[in-house]
Amino acid sequence: MASIFRTIADLWSLVVGLGITGKEFCKPGVTVHYPRAEVTPEAAASFRGPIELIGLDKDPAKPKCIACMLCVSACPSNCITVTRAPTPKPTPEELKAMAEAEARGEKPKKPAPPKAPGTWTYDFSLCSLCGSCVEACPVDSIGFSHDIYMVGTKREDFVFDQLARLARKAAARKQEPKPAAKVAPEAAPEAPAPAPETAAATPASEA
Ligand code: SF4
Ligand code: SF4
Repeated sequence: MASIFRTIADLWSLVVGLGITGKEFCKPGVTVHYPRAEVTPEAAASFRGPIELIGLDKDPAKPKCIACMLCVSACPSNCITVTRAPTPKPTPEELKAMAEAEARGEKPKKPAPPKAPGTWTYDFSLCSLCGSCVEACPVDSIGFSHDIYMVGTKREDFVFDQLARLARKAAARKQEPKPAAKVAPEAAPEAPAPAPETAAATPASEA
């Protein structure tokens, strides 16, 4: 008797599974047949593509990155290589001030290295898109791009100079036509007030 109930339960489970499969089978497709069709920008917005640098609000071609190297440590696949921007050479005035300070027996203040990357390289061929670098960045300088259509014939094609990529994207965005500003509806010109002696009620048929 117990085996009959088990068989019925198994069959019922099979029917439920087939029902789910049939339902999904009848739904419209969610993929497109590229290159005959392209993914819509709306669908691409949810796509997690290779990471990219995020630019400063005031200068989108320059990254927010402060070269702290946290993303480099956080990446489990060693995809990211960052180097600091070189320390600027002191100006002749600064050199003179430093020499004077040294002559007085003081410790002159040397120019500090800039908090910015000199190079920022990313190997997409190693990336698992885990998001650890995005989470680790303290200044929100990394995000996932929505770049869907990428092709390459060799591995090096997927090693990106992220600073150059950011600059390219910022320049391309600059070229994009700006959305038309909303124009306030023009105020209807004021009808001249009719002279009391010529004013007449508009007939209902003309209203
Ligand atoms: S998404 Fe993950 S694997 Fe890819 S670069 Fe960031 S930390 Fe590394
Ligand atoms: S991208 Fe963010 S985490 Fe990586 S070095 Fe720059 S500031 Fe640090």
